[in-house]
Amino acid sequence: MWTQGWRDRIWSEIDENPWDIIVIGGGITGAGILREAVDAGLRVLLLEAKDFSFGTSSRSSKLIHGGFRYLRNKQYDVTRESVREREWMLREARNLVTALGFCMPTYAHYKTPAWQMDMGVILYDLLAPKWAHRSFSKSKLLKECPNLNPQGLKGGHLYYDAQMDDSRLVLRIIQEAVAAGGTALNYAKVTGLLRTRDGQACGVIAQNDESEKAIEGHVIINATGPWSDDIRQHVDAVPRMRKLRGSHLIFSSQDFPLSHAVTLYHPKDNRAMFALPWEGTSLIGTTDLDHSTDLESRQDEPCASAEEIDYIMDALHATFPGVQVQHENIISSFAGLRPIIGTGKARPSDESRAHGVFQENGLLTITGGKMTTFRIMANEVLQAASPRIPGNPDFTGRRRIFDPLPDDLIHQDLSIGQLAYLSGRYGSQTTSLLKTSAAAELSAIAPLPNLWAELRWAARTEGVVHLDDLLLRRVRLGMLLPNGAFDHMPHIRSIVQPELGWDDARWMAEESSYRSTWQRAYSPAPLG
Ligand code: FAD
Repeated sequence: MWTQGWRDRIWSEIDENPWDIIVIGGGITGAGILREAVDAGLRVLLLEAKDFSFGTSSRSSKLIHGGFRYLRNKQYDVTRESVREREWMLREARNLVTALGFCMPTYAHYKTPAWQMDMGVILYDLLAPKWAHRSFSKSKLLKECPNLNPQGLKGGHLYYDAQMDDSRLVLRIIQEAVAAGGTALNYAKVTGLLRTRDGQACGVIAQNDESEKAIEGHVIINATGPWSDDIRQHVDAVPRMRKLRGSHLIFSSQDFPLSHAVTLYHPKDNRAMFALPWEGTSLIGTTDLDHSTDLESRQDEPCASAEEIDYIMDALHATFPGVQVQHENIISSFAGLRPIIGTGKARPSDESRAHGVFQENGLLTITGGKMTTFRIMANEVLQAASPRIPGNPDFTGRRRIFDPLPDDLIHQDLSIGQLAYLSGRYGSQTTSLLKTSAAAELSAIAPLPNLWAELRWAARTEGVVHLDDLLLRRVRLGMLLPNGAFDHMPHIRSIVQPELGWDDARWMAEESSYRSTWQRAYSPAPLG
């Protein structure tokens, strides 16, 4: 789709005619808006300052979920909305969003009484609506999750949510929107807004590596998540965002085996956390604390602090005392910033995760929310935009977001599971990926589910500009393999360097830049 020279082609024509909508930000929120607006027949441009999904949308807990915490706070509408979106994605984004069973143990020291946990799982299912949970005695729960701490364990539940690869979710939506006629550009930062004489936003100033352009649009939508205030300041809006950092750790599934996902409560502050099997590894998180702007000015990407890593390790050891992992077993860490609309609550975790739409001097901003509710968010902001778009398009009906998967996938060297895995990530492109891949590259990058062929495909067709894009967001080897996948670098290079058209000097520069990004923000001991 994005073959060589595509970025220059788009850039050269980008300012020729006003767009119906310009979307700023290529995370899940921007992707959803692009997709829905393109389907309504509009001319839409999405501009992303760095790589698609560079922001929070590649650093989430990878869950499509309702959130028990909303039930605790009696926010039933929020939970109902989220679990219904989950059920919709399990159907429409099949193989990319997949069901995941969660063990939720009940311990004698928990503040929430056992009967409330019982009611919680029942209500969670009823809101979907489905009936999938089960209740376990202590001995049955330990059979399901043998690593759980038996001390004080009273029993527990098994309930269902769903998981995904967040970057691939964003990319699939953007790619399918582009195939349907939309335009999306990465590494194109909005540095200012064009305004009419009466101060209304009517376009953007965008900058790529080489030049700056003024681009006009009937509607400008700010979908920059945690960076929303940076764009809002151009229309003199008062800051509203509270950036809350959340960090995760990744272990090999050999070191930290998980038969199910586990919902746990931190022994120190009783905060809910998750341990999840993900992409052949085990993931645990998250934290929730204010992200200091001081930290931000020193780095481009957030990273887990030493205190956060200790905090997560404490939860792991308390919940799974038999799992002998220490700091040296960590494969990687990563941190993301929640785009929270701040209300000044003392405890970060008490701030609502609900989304909000602001209309300020012609600029529409949509922020807050979750990956899970992206379709609802896109629809809401587009309904707000409609009066300003020629023809006042109607966004009230529900549209299909994900293209159907090819139903004739078959390959002699790949199992049904591998084909399903690929089809979820590459959608209708899977057939071409398989057809153009050499047999030797259709082998797994053990112990991960990924194939070597994915690297070539991503380098050739998926808008990779830097090595970070490839190894941290397209095929996530930098997070999933020890040492940021450096042990495999010669092989990776032999596959992707010719596809990217980089000479040796460019390769060395990219490798060195990737190494410092990885050490700073993704390694077991990030530098901050
Ligand atoms: P982002 O993904 O941050 O995208 C904004 C984009 O705007 C970025 O790519 C950025 O580079 C770009 N940008 C910024 N400035 C400019 C500019 N000037 N010009 C152009 N582009 C610009 N939700 C769930 O549903 N499930 C979960 O399991 C989950 N877990 C989470 C765990 C953590 C630790 C965190 C922090 C959040 C989690 N969330 C989860 C919430 C969810 O990840 C976020 O709500 C969502 O990713 C926000 O998406 P976004 O598109 O609004 O923002």
